[in-house]
Amino acid sequence: MAGLVLKDIVKEFGSVRAVERVDLTFAEGELTALLGPSGCGKTTLLRMIAGLEDPSFGQIFLSGQDITLLPAHKRKFGMVFQSFALFPHLSVRENVAYSLTIGGVSKSEAWAKADTLLDLVQLKTFGDRRIGELSGGQRQRVAIARALAQEPDVFLLDEPMSALDAKLREEMQVELRLLQQRLGITTIVVTHDQREAMTMADRIVVMSNGRVEQSGSPQDIYHRPANAFVADFIGRANFFDGTAEAGGIRVGETLLTVKKPLNFTPGRPVRVAVRPEMAALDDAQPENVLPATVTFVRDLGPVRDIHLDTALGRMIVEYALGEEAPVFSVGQTVPVRLPPDHLHVFPGDTPAMAAE
Ligand code: ATP
Repeated sequence: MAGLVLKDIVKEFGSVRAVERVDLTFAEGELTALLGPSGCGKTTLLRMIAGLEDPSFGQIFLSGQDITLLPAHKRKFGMVFQSFALFPHLSVRENVAYSLTIGGVSKSEAWAKADTLLDLVQLKTFGDRRIGELSGGQRQRVAIARALAQEPDVFLLDEPMSALDAKLREEMQVELRLLQQRLGITTIVVTHDQREAMTMADRIVVMSNGRVEQSGSPQDIYHRPANAFVADFIGRANFFDGTAEAGGIRVGETLLTVKKPLNFTPGRPVRVAVRPEMAALDDAQPENVLPATVTFVRDLGPVRDIHLDTALGRMIVEYALGEEAPVFSVGQTVPVRLPPDHLHVFPGDTPAMAAE
């Protein structure tokens, strides 16, 4: 087990800067998710950690040792790729034992270890099967067992669930997380799926355009997004553009009260975000209550979305099923309330979703 440190890592492919000055620490035994839209540089970062790609600049340390230029085969890192990359002509047991047997471990010892690992990933009775005789979820478990065979210092997974259907993906996320916690192995998972990251990770690193936008616990990232990109990428948010004033944020004719200390000079353009589930359709408190017209109602099973037109612009308010959610009809006028505690204020000169 080991902690990993990235210092000022840059990766250039010709004129493309895929990774831009990344500083990160991966704590020993923690699971970190690298999360971001397609092309943000997460796979490139993982490949540099694995030793499959050299950084253009910067250093990588494992337990204090500089491993920046250490070739991949000399790092004791286990990897699981999107495709699983299993050997179809070998049995499940032979796949798991492969790295051990080519490393010089006797066949009986390697097979015994493979059986222990297969037991760990709940494939105890599948050792003699061919890869082609397995379901997607079973193949993924074989890939995980194979990656764990060499007792890696660090476990790296690149979109490990993307070949699985939605239901199985959720099951495997829980299984993988429980296994990782049981083994206490430092793990980094690349994903573009925020639910996957929230399900599994101790820490989420949100990336865009090769940069780290925010690094924190799932709760931090969701409830205290560092900028408009993170607020928009993780969960949902209504955005309004306005201007900072001494008493709050002005959006058109409306002055919004904001609870948190405002670190913006009056006159500065700002962007206000509120999550749909944090707004309310009532006037139970006096602050930030506006008239709104219902334009659309969408029942999504567990939640109901109410679309509104307001003086601030269009917005969505979400009710969870079971909450006191009165029935609204299109065209109805209702009060909408934006609790000051739940308004996030960001600089107005940055787009919500950075262009890829
Ligand atoms: P995805 O989720 O689509 O896999 P990603 O976040 O993992 O995306 P990367 O694969 O790391 O993104 O790519 C980051 C950027 O670097 C992209 O603009 C990509 O086109 C570019 N890139 C990646 N590998 C190479 C390469 N070998 N040569 C040139 N450009 C590359």
